[in-house]
Amino acid sequence: MRIGNAFDVHPLVVGRALVLGGISIPFELGLEGHSDGDALTHAVIDSLLGAAGLGDSGVWFPPTDPKWKGANSIEMLRVIMEQLKERNWKVGNVDSVIICERPKLSPYFAQIRQNLAKVLEVTETQVSVKATTSEGLGFVGREEAIAVHAVALIEKA
Ligand code: MG
Repeated sequence: MRIGNAFDVHPLVVGRALVLGGISIPFELGLEGHSDGDALTHAVIDSLLGAAGLGDSGVWFPPTDPKWKGANSIEMLRVIMEQLKERNWKVGNVDSVIICERPKLSPYFAQIRQNLAKVLEVTETQVSVKATTSEGLGFVGREEAIAVHAVALIEKA
């Protein structure tokens, strides 16, 4: 078994969709990014890459590559899952925490877990999504960004 951990942060801006775990969440602000800005899916990708010792998402999806401009991050996760499977890895479990002042994300957890579990080829019980606020402190507290921590365990299939 191997574990990997990851952190991602994206700025909250006007005029962008708020996408987390491949789910569009109604909110007046959205996440800036070269792709769709899905910080949760990015953190999951980086935790898997970390566990497999395959670098980080910057290596696999360079921000200079027009191919990934506006990309659905779930498609990026699919690419990384293919890489893991080629190396005989399967996902044991993924745990994550989204640090976000607003909006309230818990109503979307079930849908996000279902969505990620499908791509990770595991059951929903193997995908944990949690959220916390920053208690008004720092850039997350000022609603300038959303941050995500994720941990993944992988094992030989
Ligand atoms: Mg990112």
